[in-house]
Amino acid sequence: MQTRLMIYDGPAAADSDVPRTGGVPLAPAGFDWPVCGSGCGEPLQFFAHLPVEDGVLSVFVCQNDPGACEFWDAAEGANRVYLFPGEGLRPVAVPATGLTLLPAVSAIRTQVVTIDPEEVEQDDEEGTPDAYDLARSGWAREPGARFGTQREVLGSLGGSPSYLEDDRVPACPSCAGAMEFAAHLEEGIDWRTAMNLGGQLGYVFVCRPCREGAFLTD
Ligand SMILES: [Zn+2]
Ligand SMILES: [Zn+2]
Repeated sequence: MQTRLMIYDGPAAADSDVPRTGGVPLAPAGFDWPVCGSGCGEPLQFFAHLPVEDGVLSVFVCQNDPGACEFWDAAEGANRVYLFPGEGLRPVAVPATGLTLLPAVSAIRTQVVTIDPEEVEQDDEEGTPDAYDLARSGWAREPGARFGTQREVLGSLGGSPSYLEDDRVPACPSCAGAMEFAAHLEEGIDWRTAMNLGGQLGYVFVCRPCREGAFLTD
């Protein structure tokens, strides 16, 4: 089992084109910063800039009124995911109001972690081991782990969603097909600068033909 973990790689410039959480979004010309459709009407907070093979996934989550705005739901308007083209992106002007920026910019490097299923203790009652869960909890034992903490794991790219009920996989708003899982996003390495997801794991989905994205938490 292989998992492409996203690992904290130190601070980054706010407008860097590297994979990162925090900083300012890079978007095509004319892009308008998204506002929350779940009640507060304020600008969403920029969460992550994730270059992928067919562009850049750009993730926003409402933080203006946690608990009231339903950022955990893919369809309530309190989060947005865009699949931008990989070229021609520029920093977006930050709105004057609302909680728009994370307090820290965290660069991300990816590391493929291979877990030998035969080394995993099988728990018959739990069923199939969860690839992301195993990779994340196993990260502290990797030879290349510099910090030795699970919190260094900022998520993963590709693979399958961790412990997510099938009926929570969002439908594409354009074609109504089931969306493809793209990434996990953890809240962040330091709780003082992390995104508040209520302690939950974030899931990013994409419909590549329609270039639509979606976000939810478990
Ligand atoms: Zn809101
Ligand atoms: Zn679609």
